[in-house]
Amino acid sequence: MLELLWLLLPAAAASGWIAARRSADTASRRPPERDPAYFRGLNYLLDEQPDKAIDVFVRMLEVDGETVETHLALGSLFRRRGEVERAIRIHQNLIARPTLSREQRAQALLDLGLDYMRAGLFDRAENLFLELRDTKLLQEQALEGLRVIYQQEKDWEKCLQVAEDLESIGGRPLGLERAHYYCELAELARAAGEEDRAHAMLKKALGASKDLSRAIWLQAALEIAAGDYKAGARLLNRIAEQDPDLVPEVLPQLVECHRRLGQRRELVALLEGLLASRGEPAVLLMLADVVQEDEGEPAALRYVAQHLGPRPSLASLLRLIRLAERAPNAVVPDLMPVLRDAVERLLERRPAYQCAHCGFNAKTLHWQCPGCRRWSTIKPVRDLDH
Ligand SMILES: [Zn+2]
Repeated sequence: MLELLWLLLPAAAASGWIAARRSADTASRRPPERDPAYFRGLNYLLDEQPDKAIDVFVRMLEVDGETVETHLALGSLFRRRGEVERAIRIHQNLIARPTLSREQRAQALLDLGLDYMRAGLFDRAENLFLELRDTKLLQEQALEGLRVIYQQEKDWEKCLQVAEDLESIGGRPLGLERAHYYCELAELARAAGEEDRAHAMLKKALGASKDLSRAIWLQAALEIAAGDYKAGARLLNRIAEQDPDLVPEVLPQLVECHRRLGQRRELVALLEGLLASRGEPAVLLMLADVVQEDEGEPAALRYVAQHLGPRPSLASLLRLIRLAERAPNAVVPDLMPVLRDAVERLLERRPAYQCAHCGFNAKTLHWQCPGCRRWSTIKPVRDLDH
């Protein structure tokens, strides 16, 4: 409640000051008993009786239009604190007043819309935001509210419309968002068996956000489903080149395309290129599969041992151990040093100390966490439990 008190004290002081100044001017223009009511409201707030306090403030509003801003601030404060019903009551009372200025009414409508959104009453919020959009007051905030609602409702057509409206009134660029809306529409079209529409939506997505990997990936899926593995592989390759983080994700489809095309040599060259540039564990595991399939387990074992590299992963180390188990007679030069080296590198990468509160990783024991500044929260990490 202290927060509310700080908000209202200046208002009370100011209204007292205005009242005093006015009574000095002309006794007849003195507003009716304003200050006692304010302090009664404050007392209710301090006694943790916010509903009685709201009653007092709302009644005061009926007699005094100068406290509109305070009511707006009080309403927002209740909403921020998660007391949405109280915020709604305050804003509804404000809107019901006939003497509000256009701007004040718009602000109260926007706030009430935000209250409704917070309460999950999206259709009511939508109506208020639509009204604001049409009156062209607080348009940007209203459109942003609509965009959030339509995203929540997965109404992608309306999302697109609102995003375009927002951009046209000079809001921030929403190319990435629009591209994802088109991708959503493309996925729906694909699920409904409308390939042509899906392709058209993806073209628009790439027009809104050039090279968006999601759109290219969806294009690849359409090509693969249509049996065009060559086009599929080309698109997936493009994703692997421009977005290396997605390599593990697109890898299975990429391998499948090359298998269908019977391009084993191209596939191995491609995978080795990816392994050399990124050292991606998923790529090494995929290569191990290919080698194992074509040349058997001893060959796969030798391959993994040779390519474990300077950044081994637990998954590739496990693969190596399993292959060694299954092919005990395979001749692998220096298998034990390779294993030892991999474990040493994994241990080196592991943080020695970690904050139990914020997860900050440290090489040495700090008594105060450099991340969250708490004391005695940094503990030694045991084995791999981080
Ligand atoms: Zn910390």
